[in-house]
Amino acid sequence: MFTFTTSWDDGDKNDLRIADLLDRYGMRGTFYIAKTQKNRLSEEDILSLSKQQEIGAHTLTHADLPLLTKEEKIHEIQGSKEWLESVTGNSVHSFCYPYGRVDEETREVVASLGFKAARSSVKTLGTKPTDPYMLPVTTMTYRAPYTPITKILLTAGVTPASNSGWEVLVREKLEKVAADEGYFHLWGHSWEIEKLKLWSSLEMFLKEVSLRKDVLYVSNGELADKVFYGE
Ligand SMILES: [Zn+2]
Repeated sequence: MFTFTTSWDDGDKNDLRIADLLDRYGMRGTFYIAKTQKNRLSEEDILSLSKQQEIGAHTLTHADLPLLTKEEKIHEIQGSKEWLESVTGNSVHSFCYPYGRVDEETREVVASLGFKAARSSVKTLGTKPTDPYMLPVTTMTYRAPYTPITKILLTAGVTPASNSGWEVLVREKLEKVAADEGYFHLWGHSWEIEKLKLWSSLEMFLKEVSLRKDVLYVSNGELADKVFYGE
């Protein structure tokens, strides 16, 4: 049995489409929302999403935290936690560092504010997480270089060849993690999936995973509970 979690950053409106996909295939995900994200989910959207999936904090302004003073870090991190808790009426236990940027002081502030886990952008090939405040990821939904040529191809309805590279790679990684009974963490940005027209390849992948019998689905918070807090 291997563990499968997903996370989605920033709080874009397209997150609702991700949530529908996760629901369709019985999967779990954590949605990290920054308050000032453009094209952001409305507060009604966030409330309804919180009933399906986990909501996590991602600062107020998508701040580059290591550049801030300790007081500014607290303001950004605590402010986003309190805002999401007032919107959802529930505690927020998971945090994600914007740009994957974190220093020791940031980590300490996150831990001191009552978060149980924080997701980083550190990549692993599916080994068990060792630090609740540095949850690693396995693979991102493909960040194809968005060049003028990519744009022309997409406009013409052609998926760039580089995207099929992601499709092959993600399946190879899944097989490896499943064989090792490890931890697979898929993350991405719904706005990027929309921009690169990756919805069908993402759905195909999720559908394939959902047909497996050897997989346990958890949100990021549930993953931390399972690995670090014995729940
Ligand atoms: Zn972000």
